[in-house]
Amino acid sequence: MFCLVDCIACAKVTPNNEPNGHLNNLYFCAALNYFKLIQRIVKTDKLYTGNGDYISNGMMAINQQNRIVEVGIAIRSVGVEEEYFEGALCPGFVNTHCHLELSHLKGKVSQKTGIHNFIVELQKIRNASEQEKQEAIKAANEEMIAAGIVAVGDISNDLSTVQTKVDSVIHYHTFVELFGFRTHLADSIIESGQQLKASFAEVGLHSSIVPHSPYSVSDKLFENIAAERGNSPLSIHNQESRAENEMYENKSGALVEMMENFGNDLSTFEATGKSSLQSYLRKISKNTPLLLVHNTFTTAQDIREAQNEHDYLYWCFCPKANLYIENQLPNVPAFVKENVKCTIGTDSLASNDSLSIWEEIQTIKRHYTEIPLEKLIQWATLNGAEFLGIEKDYGSFDVGKLGKMNWIRGNRLTSL
Ligand SMILES: [Zn+2]
Repeated sequence: MFCLVDCIACAKVTPNNEPNGHLNNLYFCAALNYFKLIQRIVKTDKLYTGNGDYISNGMMAINQQNRIVEVGIAIRSVGVEEEYFEGALCPGFVNTHCHLELSHLKGKVSQKTGIHNFIVELQKIRNASEQEKQEAIKAANEEMIAAGIVAVGDISNDLSTVQTKVDSVIHYHTFVELFGFRTHLADSIIESGQQLKASFAEVGLHSSIVPHSPYSVSDKLFENIAAERGNSPLSIHNQESRAENEMYENKSGALVEMMENFGNDLSTFEATGKSSLQSYLRKISKNTPLLLVHNTFTTAQDIREAQNEHDYLYWCFCPKANLYIENQLPNVPAFVKENVKCTIGTDSLASNDSLSIWEEIQTIKRHYTEIPLEKLIQWATLNGAEFLGIEKDYGSFDVGKLGKMNWIRGNRLTSL
């Protein structure tokens, strides 16, 4: 008697004298072993896979390691009871843009005043006691877990979020964000960024060094960031205001005024006659995944030019923050038409009343009803996971990935 799996059951059922007993035995053992792995079978009316589609009356089998072993419509396993979820299931969300360290500013910054006023106000009220900051960071992390978020791309200017990230079940990638329009400071700024990155690495956290925005970073600092080895993925705030485009098109507008009021010397800054994105994108290395965040004033022409210029672009929408700051949404259908890779972020609690990707999806859906929910869910799951380089474990209901799920009933979402 030969058997690859040591199994009492097969010894009992295999007839001793049957000529092909060995073959039957192998088959039975393999099947039994497979069934033993399955711990849960879930069923729902619509199984949103994260791949841009859904399966009606979809089912999924998950093993003891919380890995998906089967996705389909007729899954059975001896001894495992089917769990039915009325409504829909979708993969855990990936929030590609957040600022956890600004969580203590919830409800403190005036709404709908424009990005330049937002930044000025933020600088004035940003400071708070360390205890107040830490409590707000922890609460924001808990809020995201409860909202079904499993991975986050988080902007950091300091180390205040380190402990929460280390302790969290959420997968965090930190974008160490640099500012600095003054050329002579570019070397010391990149050094401080490298130190921050090293501090995140010391405790096992992933991070990369990124520019805040095109207008707040000198050419020299852009060069320093581009020279960083293994610095991936990248992120930048893009075309968040009309004034950002005005600054590049003709060196005028509210952002130019704000920069000068902050004491920056714009005498060497030259207008390009083009939009912000078309002016700065070439300063960023084109073979590194890059997240363009906000895109509130991005045109179809910008999208096409940028796609031609850069190989791995992702476009992140934070619609609730856009409404909070500029009271305007990006032209989302233009991105759908160009068939580019989009993701969804919450931005921070300084410009949002919640950290919920599901609420962001609903906000887009309310304004652009024609965009199918399965597409928005793909933005909020697989695309974000691909951008962060964690698609082996997260982002879709595919065999081998983690079985992290969210349950949608009507407009309500529950993290499972
Ligand atoms: Zn932001």
